Amino acid sequence: MKYYDKLIFDLSKAGRQGYSLPANKWERSVSELPAGLSRAEAPALPEVSELDVVRHYTNLSQMNFGVDSGFYPLGSCTMKYNPKINEEIAAHPGFAGLHPLQPASTVQGALAVYHNLAKALSAITGMAEFTLNPFAGAHGELTGLMVIRQYHISRGDEKRTRIIVPDSAHGTNPASAAVCGLEIVQVKSNAMGLVDVEDLKPLLDDTIAGIMMTNPNTLGLFEKDIKEIAALVHECGGLLYYDGANMNPLVGMVRPGDMGFDVLHLNLHKTFSTPHGGGGPGAGPVGVAAHLAKHLPAPKVVVGECGEYHVVDQDGEPCGRISGFMGNFGVLLRAYTYILMLGKQNVKMVGPLSVLGANYIKESLKDCFKLPIPTVCKHEFVFDGLLDQSTGVTTLDVAKRLLDYGFHAPTIYFPLLFHQAIMIEPTETESKETLDGFIEIMRHIAAEAVSDPESMKTAPHTTPVRRLDETTAARQPILRYKDMN
Ligand SMILES: *Cc1c(COP(=O)(O)O)cnc(C)c1O
Repeated sequence: MKYYDKLIFDLSKAGRQGYSLPANKWERSVSELPAGLSRAEAPALPEVSELDVVRHYTNLSQMNFGVDSGFYPLGSCTMKYNPKINEEIAAHPGFAGLHPLQPASTVQGALAVYHNLAKALSAITGMAEFTLNPFAGAHGELTGLMVIRQYHISRGDEKRTRIIVPDSAHGTNPASAAVCGLEIVQVKSNAMGLVDVEDLKPLLDDTIAGIMMTNPNTLGLFEKDIKEIAALVHECGGLLYYDGANMNPLVGMVRPGDMGFDVLHLNLHKTFSTPHGGGGPGAGPVGVAAHLAKHLPAPKVVVGECGEYHVVDQDGEPCGRISGFMGNFGVLLRAYTYILMLGKQNVKMVGPLSVLGANYIKESLKDCFKLPIPTVCKHEFVFDGLLDQSTGVTTLDVAKRLLDYGFHAPTIYFPLLFHQAIMIEPTETESKETLDGFIEIMRHIAAEAVSDPESMKTAPHTTPVRRLDETTAARQPILRYKDMN
């Protein structure tokens, strides 16, 4: 154990101090605090110097892995680089200092950002209107499904309470549908990993509210029958929901609105370069076709006669309210900055570059890893473990070994269609040199699996913690300081 693996509490020395409080800028002195509000005893904080604190936080930051520290090819997650200018704009006091209860007349700039971002997302996706209020992808799914439910109810078509979800869907799809009170009907994938249209047809009747799809799907494959699927679902009276969490490969190329989708959500914290992971803030805007706009949740931003912005309740038959205010504004700002920085021309490069990167890795590794679906992929693809599985080295071992070489592991054991799934998504923000470095290490690991399977089984060897008991870590996390001595 390194000396600074010690917790800051263990470095405490009575009387040592590393802070100076700012001068009291308020009129009331501390002694005027109402009785009962001040504490009787000093809190049990570590007593350390400024240098101890600096080392503590610097070392803590290095125990983590982020897209700023290395390549992070996490499939179905789009860990693209988050440009630092996004942070600069979000931290601007004119934005960061706003309060959500300020009168609209005093936050016209912020409302302009909200309005303009919604318009940019409409242009990119082909949807007529957006709400930016949902806080996450899954929250957007729930919102979109509530819009669909509200649409059917407002037409007196209340028996449509079943929703079709492909077996390859992201886990949040059936979960959101269940939270929305819908019954889930599964449609199978065919041998090519696409929604099986023949399996879909008999499911379509007057109890179907709609279908939730991801395109490209979670195998990184474009659902080429989407037009036929859209026609079939619409014909039976259902609506099409598009899970656009990973819209990366389509950005600037194809629009879900043109494929026949009625409702979609986007993850700004994936496709639009705002940070994510660790349960941090996100944003899951929901876009709808024109005939569904009246069902979007309140409040919304509208432009008045003189170009001024107002925050108003939804005047149609909204699906309800889904957030206290108007979404995670800091995340919206970052996404808007990203879109403006790219501009109309460069936005068209996002899709093609992310697709090129994924295919480059796939083709460079398919003689070492099992490739169950060999066709051209979109922004991500799935291996089914090592090609040579006689060594007993599993996908988990490969993922752990990658950490020793400074790469984050890809998504593993998802999608559930393959037993040893390794799902790789490089994103458009990585250079060819980085992709080559990753390919080289993956080939090296495949060779190591044969020459030294034991060190694969015990990997990682160089990380701050070794192989975790992940179930216990999740079920019984230790969140407070404990004296381990
Ligand atoms: C990440 C993801 C989601 C969920 O997004 P959250 O912000 O984590 O709730 C939904 N669908 C797909 C395909 C995703 O990749």
